Amino acid sequence: MYYLKSCASFCALVIVFLIFSCSLIFAGDKEVKEVAGLFYLDGKPITIRIIDGKIDNISRKTVKQNEKPVYIAPGFIDNQINGYVEIGFSSEGLTVQGIKKATQSLWKAGVTTYLPTVITSSHQRLIENFKILAQALKDPEIARSVPGFHMEGPYISPVDGFRGAHNKKWVRPPDWEEFQKIYQAADKKIFQVTLAPEIEGAMDFIRNCVKNDIIVALGHHNGSAEIIEQAIDQGAKIATHLGNGCANMIHRHTNPLWPQLSDDRLMASIIVDGFHLRPEEVRVFYKAKGINNIILTSDVTKLAGMPPGEYSYDGRDVVLTPEGCIKFPAQNVLAGAASPISKGVGNVMKFTQCSLADAIHMATRNPAKLYGFKDRGELRPGLRADLILFSIEDDKLHIHKTIIAGEVVYSSKDL
Ligand SMILES: [Zn+2]
Repeated sequence: MYYLKSCASFCALVIVFLIFSCSLIFAGDKEVKEVAGLFYLDGKPITIRIIDGKIDNISRKTVKQNEKPVYIAPGFIDNQINGYVEIGFSSEGLTVQGIKKATQSLWKAGVTTYLPTVITSSHQRLIENFKILAQALKDPEIARSVPGFHMEGPYISPVDGFRGAHNKKWVRPPDWEEFQKIYQAADKKIFQVTLAPEIEGAMDFIRNCVKNDIIVALGHHNGSAEIIEQAIDQGAKIATHLGNGCANMIHRHTNPLWPQLSDDRLMASIIVDGFHLRPEEVRVFYKAKGINNIILTSDVTKLAGMPPGEYSYDGRDVVLTPEGCIKFPAQNVLAGAASPISKGVGNVMKFTQCSLADAIHMATRNPAKLYGFKDRGELRPGLRADLILFSIEDDKLHIHKTIIAGEVVYSSKDL
């Protein structure tokens, strides 16, 4: 009962705060908005003035002591979304409408920018789905949130364990000619390719990607220290979901983790949903790479964003737990990720004791830096007003409001 009362009063305070947290003013013919909350960098009250969809000014203001903390931060940038709300970006029958539904649903999770990810598939499927994704960018709402795409595979390790859940049938060596066809179908919007550097032809492929400003990521591979160093020398920039896409049993000295961890030129994306990596792994990766070179990623699959329950997923009976874990009871293994990146932000603070600012940077500023997004990823005058308003309870982020280019695209129901 006490819990219910305190919960109700907490909600009321949040509502009171939010009512005053976003207001509209008209100056001449320009729409000016003001958003107030606590700055994610230092926890102090600020007001952000938005003009024509861009941050115009950030000013300090005082607020009453008893206001519950509602923070303002840049919208999340997630570089690996395989699907959402039952829409799979690698699935047959992908439509522009489906991509729009996934995009709008991601706004509720505070994701304002993401890279739809197409994984190892037949040539035909890659062509078809990238064509549809490219078509979807003609929709301005989708285009604001989707600057480009991520292709994970098919040029990865065929070996069990390293291959992960990718279908062996479609795994193949890098083929620049084939990729050109896929790249054209995607209207040259493939920003990142995740591949295995030890596969024949990989080094030439990496060089070609670098020449075309495509980010090369190392993932689902069993590259030796020499091969990994060579791949980084050629321009590979990031390790995809470090610690996953790796066999359970590896050699203690010669394995792909050490060389990727030890090379400061390589960033790393990590899935911090609490299931894919143990807290101590997250701590080690964080310490080795430092806060500027870690990117949080969700790697969510199409069951993400759905209510907990039993589902048939690619012909398998799986269970989506309330904690956001997809279990495949028949084999007692995980069947993919279902926690949005906001959960990673909360968990990385819990696991590493890093500050809110550092945790947010791993999901905003760091990916923006990697992909060269100059208009988003931070809160600074001149940047696009992509903002989230949220509270934190027990290391969990609750998104109250999501704003893209100054426009409110999501408000929680308690408003
Ligand atoms: Zn993967």
